Amino acid sequence: MIALDHLSAARVGVLGLGRTGLSCCLALQLGGARVVAWDDSEDARQRASAAGIAIAELARPDIRQRIDRLIVSPGIPHLYPNPHPALVAAQRSGTLLDNDIGIFFEWLAHQAAASRNGVVPRTVAITGTNGKSTTAALTAHILSAADVDARLAGNIGRPVLELEGMTSCTCVVLEVSSYQSDLAAHLAPDVAVFLNLAPDHLSRHGGVGGYFAAKKRLFDGPSLAAAMVGVDEGEGEFLAAHLRSFNTNCKVFEMSACGRRTIVDGAVFSAGKVDVFSQGKLQARFRFAANPALRGLHNGQNAAAAAIACRYFGLPNNAVAEGLMSFPGLPHRMQLVGRANGITVVNDSKATNFVSAERALEANSSILWIAGGQAKETGIGGISRFSDRVRKAYLIGSCAEDFAIQLDRIPHSLCRCMETAVAMAIEDACPGDTILLSPAAASFDQYRDFEHRGDHFVELTRRLLLRHAKAEPNARAS
Ligand code: ADP
Repeated sequence: MIALDHLSAARVGVLGLGRTGLSCCLALQLGGARVVAWDDSEDARQRASAAGIAIAELARPDIRQRIDRLIVSPGIPHLYPNPHPALVAAQRSGTLLDNDIGIFFEWLAHQAAASRNGVVPRTVAITGTNGKSTTAALTAHILSAADVDARLAGNIGRPVLELEGMTSCTCVVLEVSSYQSDLAAHLAPDVAVFLNLAPDHLSRHGGVGGYFAAKKRLFDGPSLAAAMVGVDEGEGEFLAAHLRSFNTNCKVFEMSACGRRTIVDGAVFSAGKVDVFSQGKLQARFRFAANPALRGLHNGQNAAAAAIACRYFGLPNNAVAEGLMSFPGLPHRMQLVGRANGITVVNDSKATNFVSAERALEANSSILWIAGGQAKETGIGGISRFSDRVRKAYLIGSCAEDFAIQLDRIPHSLCRCMETAVAMAIEDACPGDTILLSPAAASFDQYRDFEHRGDHFVELTRRLLLRHAKAEPNARAS
């Protein structure tokens, strides 16, 4: 846990008491700040109170007057679709707004000023609609495998203020979501990555423009020395041009899929391969098709970003190549669950929008597709181009009917729940098929989160696959 000692005299309100909010309370208290917190959930308040945190309704005028700043958890809307009342009250009374990412960068700046040589860990911040977690984990993995003391935190499930041992650490790799970058008062990474942009979280950002603006904030910091930008969408192309024009201290590396455009400084990627260029000359070629954790064109993009970032931090090409090959992958992202009787099972529960599910549909064939959940604004428009790959779809969750209409001529069953979907898919499966959970929807209508959904799928398929495998004497579930 980081002790936020630069805020030792502060009176801070913390809104939201999930893991991030709790880490803020504890890091602030450790640094000496006076903390008062609130969460609309009674359970969350009780848990925090048991951990020694003072609880009070932050929208109340008497409480508001007692705080100088309000730290807001990423799940709490600050503008769209409707701001939380405590935030509105704080804004009206002139209270500073911030979040854990903002106070982390503020703390780092204080550390740099206080330390004798001004040296603090360097930071790489990663954003984009899809691939953030994979790229952040891959970057941290390549660095760690080369004996660099690198830490991984942020939206990946470990709040940054929970980091330990920051005095020895040389690099912090941060996954930053649009919710986080939108409200952070300080954002000063040394290196920032923008992978891609597709419509997502639109109601929270008031449309795609607000969503892009939230991500773009990561690139506005004065200390930004290098940026890796995916330029295959208009937003990335604009961001790269914007940085070249307005921030001449920042080295811009562009990333593009093979065949889309010429790259002078940056990388061209394809499935299993990344070519790195400097001033138009090939500097390195990385091949990692033999690593199943980096299957697909999309992982070419993630590998390109990680490879350029690690080279930028001074790693030699052979260390980057080794790290790419030894990356074990993350669960719930095209995770191979097992194979039995020629049937493959893949858990891609993290595919919460259609763009990410498309990557899994592209990378597999003869698919029995389990999809659905809580609808995203974008639906599954364009699914018909996968009609030769999807043998049948098994629809779950509150958007099942909606998806059924969009599936049109692709065979499908309305299953509602995961148990039925998995049982039907296993019943229908033939050798050569892939049972793929890649929902193209959020999980919150039926599950706590995408991990809970993926774990349930893995448990059900492992159990049923094993039973299926036993029925066939030569089969093995792996
Ligand atoms: P994020 O943290 O941005 O949600 P993840 O790395 O967890 O990204 O991957 C989420 C989903 O997106 C997975 O289903 C994965 O297969 C897919 N995905 C991963 N990288 C990319 C990418 N660069 N472009 C498009 N989809 C991707």
